[in-house]
Amino acid sequence: MGRVEKGESCGVSGCSEPAQRSISGSKASMASGLEVNTSNKRVYLCRQHYKEWKKATKEDRENERARWG
Ligand SMILES: [Zn+2]
Repeated sequence: MGRVEKGESCGVSGCSEPAQRSISGSKASMASGLEVNTSNKRVYLCRQHYKEWKKATKEDRENERARWG
């Protein structure tokens, strides 16, 4: 889970790095600092933005993490 197909690129506005992770749009919207298109079902994040997203959602992360196992 959480793996990203090759060819996907980061969904953050202005970023074209290859995606490392995909998260659901609702989860992505929990990070108010990230400009992603949360109308999509899945949001793809590059390594850097995934890190930022994790930081921004620190409190929720512990719970969500298990689902990615
Ligand atoms: Zn990015």
